[in-house]
Amino acid sequence: MFKELNISTENRYQLVDITEEIEEIVKESKVKNGLLLVFVPHSTSGIVLTENEKGLKNDWIEIFKKLTSGIDFEHNKIDNNADSHLLSGLIGQGRVLPIKDGKIIRGTWQQIFLAEFDGPRERKVIVEIITKN
Ligand code: ZN
Repeated sequence: MFKELNISTENRYQLVDITEEIEEIVKESKVKNGLLLVFVPHSTSGIVLTENEKGLKNDWIEIFKKLTSGIDFEHNKIDNNADSHLLSGLIGQGRVLPIKDGKIIRGTWQQIFLAEFDGPRERKVIVEIITKN
């Protein structure tokens, strides 16, 4: 099972909760036990699991800014988005989650987010499911 989600982002840094869309795909797949891959085919965005709480989402944005401020990046001489590439690599461009009894195993505060580091842009999220049955 292979699916693609298309997501439009609005800000340079942004967290977009895609949990519902991903869970819908898992449901449709009818896979009982297996592995779920969520991956962005982009080098300036990522996938992160975190709580969907307004304050925490702002905290993430603050950390993204702090981590990449005060550095004279060489890549910025080419296209001014070294911060975006670096955050993408640090956060990671995908996650693999277990599927058991038709559901994604995740903690209560582990929502699935697309992390935008170079928006606004049109993003693709690849969702692939491997059955163990
Ligand atoms: Zn670049």
